[in-house]
Amino acid sequence: MTSPDRTAPPVAAGASPVQGLVDPIRRWWAGARVARDGLPWRATRDPWAVLVAETMLAQTQVARVAPRYREFVARFPTPASCAVAPVGEVVRAWVGLGYNRRALALHSAAETIVARHGGRVPAALADLLGLAGVGPYTARAVLAFAFDAEAAVVDTNVGRVLARAAAGRRLRPREAQALADGHVPPGSAREWNLALMDFGSVVCASRDPACGTCPVRAAGACAWRSGREGVPDPAVGSARVTARQAPFEGSDRQGRGRLVRAACAGPIPAADVARIAGWPSHAARARRVAETLVAEGILVAGAAGELSLA
Ligand code: SF4
Repeated sequence: MTSPDRTAPPVAAGASPVQGLVDPIRRWWAGARVARDGLPWRATRDPWAVLVAETMLAQTQVARVAPRYREFVARFPTPASCAVAPVGEVVRAWVGLGYNRRALALHSAAETIVARHGGRVPAALADLLGLAGVGPYTARAVLAFAFDAEAAVVDTNVGRVLARAAAGRRLRPREAQALADGHVPPGSAREWNLALMDFGSVVCASRDPACGTCPVRAAGACAWRSGREGVPDPAVGSARVTARQAPFEGSDRQGRGRLVRAACAGPIPAADVARIAGWPSHAARARRVAETLVAEGILVAGAAGELSLA
């Protein structure tokens, strides 16, 4: 594994609301050592590994993703190795990450990559968006982090920095994306996106941003903090770039996870479905959730109604 490239070449770009942020943030990032440096997906530019990581990170916390990511790319190092595996094996490798429909989508994406793209993750936005489970965020993350293509990756941290420092007002997700798209340093997309994400995570944090020591403010480039004291935080009320997750406890997701986890150990007898789902007194709910898992192709029902991994 290699460390992230900390070189910060000069940026040649036209004026934009983001322009004033670029040099201070890149200088900060070039000297910063942030906890995220050690994350395994930062050490690769393999497009498949980046796609796997971004799919996992879309709805699961970093700390839970790291060990699963390593195991997953060791077990399925290429799209082809994933495509030829039974769906159940991919789902098994996903257990613990939640939202296991993503495993199904990744398997389907791998099949498409093999069938239509010669086994290589495509490097065009439209082709990436044609893969199951790949939305605008994930597609741009693959473009930027694997191919160094001029794509702006706008996560929640980046959206907050743009609202506060570049716009000085609330931004809708589309506005934030358009703002970011307008200023990706040519040839440095990967580094710029990482720098902006890290800056939003470490300096321009959601609560208690470090405005007092902020290099953007010191450069007079923060639209919110540079000379506009008293204006409410633009990040408060800006539309979230990533959706807020519904509570897990007591949810259908919890029951789904229990059933999938149990099926990894062996078939679940029909009589045990409600108990294993965690709803011994709500057989109809357990049956509904189990039927959904079967309809999605994650589980298969046997002749006696027992459930197994696909
Ligand atoms: S001055 Fe504060 S709000 Fe502005 S970019 Fe820096 S940390 Fe964020």
